[in-house]
Amino acid sequence: MPTMNTIPISSNVRNLPPSSTLAVSAKARELKARGVDVIGFGTGEPDFDTPRHIVESLHQSVDGGLTRYAPSPGSMDCRDRIASKLRDENGIPVEGRDVVVTVGGKQAIYLAMSCLIEPGRGDEVLLVSPAWVSVPAIVGVCGGVPTEVSGTVETGWKITPEQLEQAITPRTVAVMINSPSNPCGTVYSPDELQALAEVIERHPGLTLLSDEIYEKLIYPEIDPDVRHFSIGSMPGMAQRTITVNGLSKAFAMTGWRIGYLATPAGEGAFAASAAKLHSQMVSSIPAFCMPPIIEALDHGAPEVERMRLSFAERGRLMFGLLDDIDGIRCVRPSGAFYCFPELSGCFGRTSPGGARIENAMDFCNALLEEASVAVVPGTDFGPTAADCCRLSFAASEAEITTGCTRLAEFVSSLT
Ligand code: PLP
Repeated sequence: MPTMNTIPISSNVRNLPPSSTLAVSAKARELKARGVDVIGFGTGEPDFDTPRHIVESLHQSVDGGLTRYAPSPGSMDCRDRIASKLRDENGIPVEGRDVVVTVGGKQAIYLAMSCLIEPGRGDEVLLVSPAWVSVPAIVGVCGGVPTEVSGTVETGWKITPEQLEQAITPRTVAVMINSPSNPCGTVYSPDELQALAEVIERHPGLTLLSDEIYEKLIYPEIDPDVRHFSIGSMPGMAQRTITVNGLSKAFAMTGWRIGYLATPAGEGAFAASAAKLHSQMVSSIPAFCMPPIIEALDHGAPEVERMRLSFAERGRLMFGLLDDIDGIRCVRPSGAFYCFPELSGCFGRTSPGGARIENAMDFCNALLEEASVAVVPGTDFGPTAADCCRLSFAASEAEITTGCTRLAEFVSSLT
């Protein structure tokens, strides 16, 4: 028997958890390939195509010869346009020099964390949780320690300023907040964010990372009071806040890989450091993607609104169906495109196929195997999320109705 020759893997990568969201998608794909009629609520991306005028702008860019290396942090007109968007729409006092255009919002988070965390020093990054599964992994890869301060289903998945204050330690270097939230679909009000920001203001060494990638997907149709607010617009916080955003979710451009970070910190000094790392990491996003960014920001609003209205309808539909199910508890979503039901009422029971449901993972596995509905277990979204699962309502109304009906039947069939 020949021995297998393996290449040793660094502990940094060995210890990296695989993405649970991708694992569910892979299993659902496998079942679909076997001919099973799976309803997928697993993926976190719009089911719309990128608006046509943005695609045409890309064609023009390529035809026009934008096929060579681009300026690493993004073309200056693109950075200026993102800065004017952040000033006009969000009240964040930034200029083009304060913006780095990144390979999706995810790379913006990587860049920010790499700049903030000193590896080996035990630097903690406090995540307002439940939080997106990738963030703890990114903090870990950058040499930091992710810690979490968590809301619960009872608090509408929100934390209080007192909780935040208590969670800050001498090792905390940054706090990260994501509103509207993946996975909860909740949106902090301007007052709530200001109260959290006041805690951070009392700790001079702390930086705030505000992930606003779902800012355009909020639903006054579901909660009339909902409003997006950028902490980076607060005079006392602007210099200490890094805002992360991108085109993936609002403009249905997940595959394009376009994100950005922006902060006026140090009169462009922080962005320059992030840009230096960016240049050594990926050089830049593709040159031909720069004009489509400007096109999206200049002319994309009507299409964004069309998609938003559709998500609002679907969110209302999915929440209504889930809320009717005995045994699960769900907070009404007012942003992003997720419902995040709590499932503990189903634990200790057995499915018709004989699966014992002791936790969210068991629930999700049995739901997929026996009812052909793919949802993501809450396990990786933080300590208070472990008994939950995430359903994306970026799916058609027919899929939502069929999938949630199957889910309701599955729950009522548990003994
Ligand atoms: N932030 C949150 C909360 C997300 O859910 C995601 C994607 O799922 C991202 C950032 C990254 O988005 P992108 O696809 O632009 O990298």
